[in-house]
Amino acid sequence: DLRIARIASAIRVIPNFPKPGIMFQDITTLLLDTKAFKDTIDLFVERYKDKAISVVAGIEARGFIFGPPIALAIGAKFVPMRKPNKLPGAVISEEYSLEYGTDKMEMHVGAVEAGERALVIDDLIATGGTLCAAIRLLERVGVEVVECACVIELPELKGRERLGNKPLFVLVNAA
Ligand code: 5GP
Repeated sequence: DLRIARIASAIRVIPNFPKPGIMFQDITTLLLDTKAFKDTIDLFVERYKDKAISVVAGIEARGFIFGPPIALAIGAKFVPMRKPNKLPGAVISEEYSLEYGTDKMEMHVGAVEAGERALVIDDLIATGGTLCAAIRLLERVGVEVVECACVIELPELKGRERLGNKPLFVLVNAA
């Protein structure tokens, strides 16, 4: 697909951000390329439009960029999965481990109902810990996570394996 090549080349790689040794995949340059950005959304919409998905759950922060246009196009609601103490209402939360220490992800109580079908979206999967926390949060309240989707996968970090049998769809593989 020619669209994939254009998307891949619109992603900028910034060495040594946020710390030495990390090659940061910067999707802000993808957002500047109107065709590549639209193609990104279109590819997800083509895949998910007929899958009876009622919830697009987007992970803070860059899942908030890609999630809402997909949700609107497929007729699903958008639910933000946020960092701790950001959501104003009652939340349920899920802890997950980082390279050093732990973090928490939160979702509003009542945002989803048992039996709904969800797509989880983020910009990038590295170790898969973030997506796993989102899956656990949704499954705890009885939501079926149909698939996870990211623009970029870092295959060397084996996040796909960490997701187990949960399907993962990505557009671009990066080193
Ligand atoms: P994981 O939990 O899979 O190890 O890390 C994925 C999370 O970290 C995602 O929310 C993603 O936005 C962020 N992340 C880690 N590395 C990068 C990167 O190189 N570029 C971008 N854009 N996000 C990253």
